[in-house]
Amino acid sequence: MRIGHGYDVHRLVSSRKLILGGVEIPHYLGLLGHSDADVVTHALMDALLGAAALGDIGTHFPDNDPAYAGASSLTLLGRVMELLRQAGWQVENADMTILAQQPKLKGHIPQMRQNYARVMGVPVDCISVKATTEEGLGFTGTEQGIAAHAVVLLQTLKNPADGEI
Ligand code: MG
Repeated sequence: MRIGHGYDVHRLVSSRKLILGGVEIPHYLGLLGHSDADVVTHALMDALLGAAALGDIGTHFPDNDPAYAGASSLTLLGRVMELLRQAGWQVENADMTILAQQPKLKGHIPQMRQNYARVMGVPVDCISVKATTEEGLGFTGTEQGIAAHAVVLLQTLKNPADGEI
């Protein structure tokens, strides 16, 4: 088994969509970034790559590469899953925490879990997404940005044939 941790931050700005866990969330601010700036999915990808010691998303999907301008982070997550399978790993579970003062995310979490379960090819009860505020403190508390943590556990592929593309 292997454990991995990922962390990411994106700045909140006007005139951008707010996309978290592949869900477009109605809000007057959105996250700034080269891709869709889905900070939770970025933390998750870094946790997955970290557990497998396969580098980080900056090396696999450089933010100066026009190919990734406006890219769907769920699509990039699918590519990370391919890399893991090729390296002989499968996901046991993933646990994410979103740090955001606003908006309230509770109602969107079931859809985020469904999105991750679909793209990662695991049951939805292997995926946890939680949200918290930081009580008005720091850059998340003052709504300058949103941060996310992810922790994942990988296992060696039970059926190595699953790793063949
Ligand atoms: Mg990022």
